[in-house]
Amino acid sequence: MKLLVINAGSSSLKYQLYDMTDESVLAKGLVERIGMDSSILTHKPTGKEEVTEVSEILEHTTAIRKVLEKLTDKEHGVLESVEEIQAVGHRVVHGGEAFKGSALVTSEVKAEIRRLFDLAPLHNPPAILGINAAEKNMPGVPQVVAFDTAFHQTMEEKVYLYPIPKVLYKKHRVRRYGAHGTSHQYVSKVAADYLNRPIEDLKIITCHIGNGASMTAVQGGVSTDTSMGLTPLEGLMMGTRSGDLDPAVVTFVMNKEELSLSEANSMLNKHSGLLAISGSSSDMRDITDGMAEGDPNSTLAFEMYEYRLRKYIGSYAAAMNGVDVIVFTAGVGENSAIVREKVCENLTYLGVEIDPELNKVRSGDPRRISTPNSKVEVLVIPTNEELMIARDTYRIVQENQ
Ligand code: AMP
Repeated sequence: MKLLVINAGSSSLKYQLYDMTDESVLAKGLVERIGMDSSILTHKPTGKEEVTEVSEILEHTTAIRKVLEKLTDKEHGVLESVEEIQAVGHRVVHGGEAFKGSALVTSEVKAEIRRLFDLAPLHNPPAILGINAAEKNMPGVPQVVAFDTAFHQTMEEKVYLYPIPKVLYKKHRVRRYGAHGTSHQYVSKVAADYLNRPIEDLKIITCHIGNGASMTAVQGGVSTDTSMGLTPLEGLMMGTRSGDLDPAVVTFVMNKEELSLSEANSMLNKHSGLLAISGSSSDMRDITDGMAEGDPNSTLAFEMYEYRLRKYIGSYAAAMNGVDVIVFTAGVGENSAIVREKVCENLTYLGVEIDPELNKVRSGDPRRISTPNSKVEVLVIPTNEELMIARDTYRIVQENQ
């Protein structure tokens, strides 16, 4: 079965075409600047040259039509006809409490995703645009939605509730939902496979640290705690997001600086984290370069970032009463040897010991960086959210045939 995985943002749309007979990627690409002049479509068929095309793409239906044209193009295509695509899988950020796993798209499912617009005003509306656009371009082709929150629906009430008036949960569903669930689920499964151990027996801490960053305690294969909350602002320090802080900071600063709600939101989501402390960049490469050059602000940003990561690992080890495996993934986790080194350097009390040479190895495959003596397996596992969505789509479509 060939299927298309789509990740629709408000002005962008990423895609990957899979052949599920061997889970190979036939082509992938990205449409950027949808709704603006000079939209850009970048298409990369596997084993062929990448092509870029600039045109006017005003909305998502046209974006998908252009993608399908590229996929069936004589020169750059990988398909004879669009009919070869037998299913479409969509990434959706927020599944609220309604979705504990991926689901076949129906009108009720779409209505539920719309009901969740309140909880993810920036992310869920484009997902609906993507689903509608795919339905228009490929009528009758089954569509599946995979949610970033679904994996964390196994968290217990004591973990997901905030200690605030309960009426806020009843009225507005204010609770912790988490995010990056597809990634945490994927890397925890790959970790168990890599170690050749049943996931049911493992206590795993997965660190998805990219531009956004979150950590999950995966016990027996299910998420028992995760660092993001009602929104992806809680938890670790990130590129431009603050992560944890005293909630009183928000009201205090809003009062002193006369900030509106949206200004406060923007401060915490877009102007905090590494960017705020370094004063120069949200990118870990720039931070570590700055640190190597002796820039005190970059050094402080790095130290805060690493310290907070380490504190979270400690708290999840405490929450699970131990840890067997620590996984690093996403942009920083997969690529920054120094972040991994500094975090692990301070986890000796857990029996963590990494091999500096293995830590330096760069590879696109899952790998171990801990020594044979380490009491905790430390792994670097490239995440692959698209593959996870493709697998779910394939399974759900088969189940519903
Ligand atoms: P992601 O959100 O997973 O795509 O990760 C993006 C982030 O990964 C970037 O903002 C960088 O901070 C970080 N990153 C990518 N490559 C490297 C690298 N070689 N070293 C350190 N950080 C990196």
